[in-house]
Amino acid sequence: MTEPKSPFWNMLNERTILVVVAAIIALFWAFNQISLFAALISSGVTAALLIQLEVKRRIEHLQRRRIEAQEKRINRRKGIKSLRASALNSLPSPILMVDDTNIISFANDAAKELLGDQIASDDIFLYLRQSSFVKALGEVLTGHSVQSGAIRYTNSQDRSFDLTISPIAGTKPDGSKRIQAMVFFFEVTSLLRTEQMRVDFVANASHELRTPLTTITGFIETLQGPAADDLDAQKRFLAIMQRESDRMKRLIDDLLSLSRIEMSRHDAPDEIIDINSIIKSTVNACAPSAAERAINFSLELDEHCSKVQGDPDQLTQVFLNLLGNAAKYAERDTSVHIVTNIDPLSKDQLYVTVRDEGPGISSEHLSRLTERFYRVDTARSRKMGGTGLGLAIVKHILLRHSSQLEIRSQVGVGTTFSFKLPKG
Ligand code: ADP
Repeated sequence: MTEPKSPFWNMLNERTILVVVAAIIALFWAFNQISLFAALISSGVTAALLIQLEVKRRIEHLQRRRIEAQEKRINRRKGIKSLRASALNSLPSPILMVDDTNIISFANDAAKELLGDQIASDDIFLYLRQSSFVKALGEVLTGHSVQSGAIRYTNSQDRSFDLTISPIAGTKPDGSKRIQAMVFFFEVTSLLRTEQMRVDFVANASHELRTPLTTITGFIETLQGPAADDLDAQKRFLAIMQRESDRMKRLIDDLLSLSRIEMSRHDAPDEIIDINSIIKSTVNACAPSAAERAINFSLELDEHCSKVQGDPDQLTQVFLNLLGNAAKYAERDTSVHIVTNIDPLSKDQLYVTVRDEGPGISSEHLSRLTERFYRVDTARSRKMGGTGLGLAIVKHILLRHSSQLEIRSQVGVGTTFSFKLPKG
């Protein structure tokens, strides 16, 4: 930095001093105090000293400017480096830089969260040791090729990542070239989970369809062969075949409605409907089958608040499934209570509960009940004509209504299903 000079010093520059000294020498010479030769020598020496001073000053000025420029460059580089580091830290995916001695030279925040805070300056093979990674890293650091795709890393919490390793060329402090490897972690945990769910779903759906189909095929063969002339057996077998084909039809209907509901998942319903009339008509539809087991429906509906925002067909489906289940699984000669009231916590929501006095469900099953094809007692569900999709359909319909199904149950006491709907 150049120091500011006072005006006096500015005036007193080398040229002024030279003129003053020359004038003094001239005066000395004029008044015969010194000889002409001495005057010339003294003037020459003064001028030489002043020139040297000026040259020194300019050199210092140039050096100062060079240092300033260098400092600026270093600060700019530091700024870029810290900007790069904070940009990499803000990325949600873990990223590591590994040098040619396999030491981690940089780890962003997501990588530290995944592998531990202390990873920087550690050997990468302490954390990623599988042979595919070791081989790929070696190839990147020596052959400069990008390696991606086939390297998968799964940690102890079952989070899975696909790794891509890219070479990054740079220079060492001594000016020689160096290659580092950038390791990108792309999280595939939810993709794998979705893929597994899809595979399980196809397997479950095929199994559910194959069971009645096998029964029907078996009876067709029996009717064509041993029972060809047995009218009694034919009647019995045809009734079973009818029941099994009804089951297949119910299953296909449920699968189709589940896929329709999922397709409209992000399209929230905006129709204003009367929920009390939907509940009453569903109760009427379920009453005959409930009556067979002496199950009675008791309604306690808030008559002042019955308008809600929703899809009438889908909400009818919700009550059909919940009341149907209550009627299927509740003990004989018990009641199913349907209650609606304003949610005390949020006044713009209607709170709906369906409570039965059935066998109840033990707590370990509760969180899985809304999974497709999940049943507590598969044989009982099948015997009662269940598809294992009823509660999954309810869950997805409620999700479309920005709501959630809550299930509380006590073994031997009964089960309560509840949810909220936006008031219309
Ligand atoms: P399902 O067609 O088998 O009834 P759901 O998805 O409707 O399929 O229900 C899943 C499982 O939850 C049922 O198989 C049953 O074991 C259990 N379940 C559902 N509702 C009740 C209830 N009200 N009481 C006891 N268990 C129930």
